[in-house]
Amino acid sequence: MAVPRHKHTRSKVGKSRMHKYIKSAHLNICPKCKKPVLSHTVCLNCGFYKGKEVINVLVDLTKKEKKLKEKEINQAEKESKQEKPMTMEELSQK
Ligand SMILES: [Zn+2]
Repeated sequence: MAVPRHKHTRSKVGKSRMHKYIKSAHLNICPKCKKPVLSHTVCLNCGFYKGKEVINVLVDLTKKEKKLKEKEINQAEKESKQEKPMTMEELSQK
């Protein structure tokens, strides 16, 4: 059996464990519903990926839940349309 030749000091152990930790996931924001989503992943809140509907999220919901979800998604979409950057003409007028 292989036997370690020298004792690993606490310092060495600590240094080798320095990179062993869980990094926080990089999240993007869904352009449709503004919820955080993993990149290259379908948004599970609205079921959209790259501007196309991939999953119909409203299928398994009750009538009341459907109404709420549709309202939430529509509101997020509306807000995104309002927050357009100003054009150069608008900026010069101000
Ligand atoms: Zn979404």
